[in-house]
Amino acid sequence: MENKLIEIKNAYYFYDPEEEGKEPEPALKNVSLDIYEGEFVAVLGHNGSGKSTLAKLCNAVFEPARGTVTVDGIPSDSEENGDLIRRKVGMVFQNPDNQIVATIVEDDVAFGPENLGVDPAEIRKRVDSALKSVNMYEYRERQPHNLSGGQKQRVAIAGVIAMQTKCIVLDEPTAMLDPMGRDEVMDTIHKLNKEMGITVVLITHFMDEAVKADRVVIMDKGEIITTGTPREVFSKVDFLREHKLDVPQSTELCNALGIKGCVLDTDECVEVLGRILGGAV
Ligand code: ADP
Ligand code: MG
Repeated sequence: MENKLIEIKNAYYFYDPEEEGKEPEPALKNVSLDIYEGEFVAVLGHNGSGKSTLAKLCNAVFEPARGTVTVDGIPSDSEENGDLIRRKVGMVFQNPDNQIVATIVEDDVAFGPENLGVDPAEIRKRVDSALKSVNMYEYRERQPHNLSGGQKQRVAIAGVIAMQTKCIVLDEPTAMLDPMGRDEVMDTIHKLNKEMGITVVLITHFMDEAVKADRVVIMDKGEIITTGTPREVFSKVDFLREHKLDVPQSTELCNALGIKGCVLDTDECVEVLGRILGGAV
């Protein structure tokens, strides 16, 4: 993981217009973050901490008011560059119903590459292969409104895959899904990263979804307050609590039991408790 794909340097973003002599409250404040090719980065933080704004900087929907954002060597400082950047970074949003545009699944997946002017024979290939990779190929002739939330999100992800972007930014893609839908979507996202080498930026408020990331970024009030591997970040239980953030359930349980070291998931929790209870678990 040597190549920087997204480079954010000292970025600020303001929604409110500047009033005379008074600086508005920034939605992002001096944010610096590098995302490397092939990485899986989870971004966590409270409502209003700036996660969605950061996502929109990553694919040049917004330009920073101050500082710079560069994607694959392209600075996001003009409309033309923004178009180039959006060919490299795709987005998936929270609400599956807001991002489906066609009345047939395969037409929906074809929409992105059609807009990029891809040749129809090539589009056909990309649509089939994208639908297979999210496990939705059998549903290609269905109507999206009859699908479950998790299935719709997988169709939205297939739409990004069909555009062959290097990176996919998912803004709370599982927030509106039931547990099964969440699992399906999380499995799909991990597969894209591991098997297809697509760089993933996953914005989530579920701590358990961040545990399997390569790196976790925590935001609060428009700033990045800490970043590191999941183990590094979730071992700072007190720090996270001070910022009113949870830790993964297994971490919380083992921490409450006074177990030293950072336990991240159910498997690790079972192992540690098994050792303590002398094999009774
Ligand atoms: P998050 O995704 O972490 O919930 P956001 O990036 O949406 O955070 O919001 C960051 C800050 O910017 C918040 O204070 C929010 O109220 C403000 N904000 C977000 N969207 C808008 C908007 N369209 N207009 C004005 N302020 C906004
Ligand atoms: Mg948001």
